[in-house]
Amino acid sequence: MRILVIEDEKKVSNFIRKALEEERYAADQAFDGEEGLDLAETYDYDLIVLDLMLPKKSGMQVLQALRKQGNETPVLILTARDAVQQKVKMLDAGGDDYLTKPFSIEEFLARVRALLRRGKVGRTSLLCVSDLTMNPATREVRRGTRRIELTNKEYALLEYFMRNSGRVLTRSMIAEHVWNIDFDTESNVIDVYVTYLRNKIDKGAATALIKTVRGCGYLLGE
Ligand code: CA
Repeated sequence: MRILVIEDEKKVSNFIRKALEEERYAADQAFDGEEGLDLAETYDYDLIVLDLMLPKKSGMQVLQALRKQGNETPVLILTARDAVQQKVKMLDAGGDDYLTKPFSIEEFLARVRALLRRGKVGRTSLLCVSDLTMNPATREVRRGTRRIELTNKEYALLEYFMRNSGRVLTRSMIAEHVWNIDFDTESNVIDVYVTYLRNKIDKGAATALIKTVRGCGYLLGE
């Protein structure tokens, strides 16, 4: 397993590298965004640890450039900021996980292990719940053989439901994952979108997959 650490603070970077090497991972270091992007484009890493505040190119620019090139390497973001809006932005841009500084090395290594286990398949493998399927690579959604056309927002909402099938999702969880920071939690936008999804997915089907959990939120499952 080879890991790229893009972090300009030498002390933090060396600390991370030492911890990774003790776990028998190979670790390369880059100390600015440009060097980091360069290495990530040149070598096939299993994981990239990416600081947000970097000289030359920001972590966000590095991440966006990689995803635009179709690079699916899991990215663990390190940042001093823990604002929800930053988190949402990062995850939207293709970040896989997020760790706020300062962090314990145990937590860091646990996140690294989880991301390595998930690998690159997490982003592209087919999602299935009953006869509902979603292909994240092509964004194709089907119920049985019927092809379903979704708007971007409906797609994002359904993907969140499918990745968490069988779990009750509250409105605030949905808001945090699917809408941005300006989202007004008092509005009924989520319920409206769930209704749109129901009309497209469950209408005319033998079983309804989207369920209302009274007083709580929604659940997707059989
Ligand atoms: Ca930094």
